[in-house]
Amino acid sequence: MPPKVRRPRAEWQEQLAQGVRDVRAIPGLTEEQYERLEAVAKEYPFFTTPYYLSLIEEMDASDPMYIQQMPDAVEFEDSSFLEDDPLDEEDDMPVRHLTHRYPDRVLFVVTHTCAMYCRFCTRKRKVGKNPVPPPHELEAVFEYIREHPEIRDVLLSGGDPLTLTDNALEWIISNLYEIPHVELIRMGTKIPCVNPARITNELCEMLARYQPFYLNTHFNHPRELTPEAREACGRLVDHGIPVGCQTVLLRGVNDDPETMKQLMHELLKARVKPYYIYQADLVKGTDHFRTSVQKGLEIMEALQGHTTGFGVPQYIIDAPGGGGKIPVSPSRIVDLTDEKIVVRNYEGNEYEYPAAGYDAETVQDYFPAFNE
Ligand SMILES: *Cc1c(COP(=O)(O)O)cnc(C)c1O
Ligand code: SF4
Repeated sequence: MPPKVRRPRAEWQEQLAQGVRDVRAIPGLTEEQYERLEAVAKEYPFFTTPYYLSLIEEMDASDPMYIQQMPDAVEFEDSSFLEDDPLDEEDDMPVRHLTHRYPDRVLFVVTHTCAMYCRFCTRKRKVGKNPVPPPHELEAVFEYIREHPEIRDVLLSGGDPLTLTDNALEWIISNLYEIPHVELIRMGTKIPCVNPARITNELCEMLARYQPFYLNTHFNHPRELTPEAREACGRLVDHGIPVGCQTVLLRGVNDDPETMKQLMHELLKARVKPYYIYQADLVKGTDHFRTSVQKGLEIMEALQGHTTGFGVPQYIIDAPGGGGKIPVSPSRIVDLTDEKIVVRNYEGNEYEYPAAGYDAETVQDYFPAFNE
């Protein structure tokens, strides 16, 4: 027998194999601080890639790249009203791993593993703690979707679906597209931001066989749009996969209009369409990241009309208790009656427009010149 040849690991596998999960890799802390962080990481797992670690410039909480990935003792010092599952995702689960909240679309948690555990994660209660769901549990989800013809859109989420192998993913996607009423499959993934080498040509070619397929990624700071990340997003787009971005509004990371505008510009340059900015959910262990809603509105005000229209995402509050995503926006309406609307533009100037649809008399009242 010839000796077994071990295939060299691909770059993205290397990133996972060399991943950091020991808080003692953080330099310069006291023994007491290490012990505290070990306790935090026990409750909320710590894992990050050497690639994403390399984006840190200052090894302390002043660095937006540091606070997103490094555990902090404040995760244990939350306000008492915070919950593990404020969106009541578990209550809307008719079968394990599936949240069916909106009639026509579902959120399918295909894994609980990520390539990096964001310290502000909405699913902090479960990511990194549960095993990958076994095939029979995924089959139960296919079965549920098959029995519910109102479901037209399946969102693959997690955890991070791109921590699965290409084969496992293809098995899930092809099973879903065999269901006649499934019109649309999309995926939420942080991988282009934290392990961009995972976006291989083979992966893109596989995904491209299942159209329509939309991918939403997750960038929070302009420094995350490195040449590697841009290449990963570009490769997806080159294969015909539209890429969007969901950003979380985070204190100390992107809670100022200038940083957020820069982020949107970097995304557009990487051919990524900004989709949502989320107000931070009321998740236990994440309070220190939360900003005021006023700050979010101020950021939206600074984007709307001040930059490329399709570079402006919607600002979303995901309603506690399972109400779903609700877009909020600074009001542009100064006054509205049956006759007219007064609206405010990006410079603060006000303009009138007839509020009724086509109606010869009203139009003539407003534009007397039409009579002459
Ligand atoms: C976010 C989410 C969706 C998808 O919402 P869109 O606004 O269509 O992107 C579906 N189900 C659940 C439970 C969600 O949280
Ligand atoms: S990648 Fe997504 S699911 Fe995983 S920790 Fe970050 S926000 Fe949570």
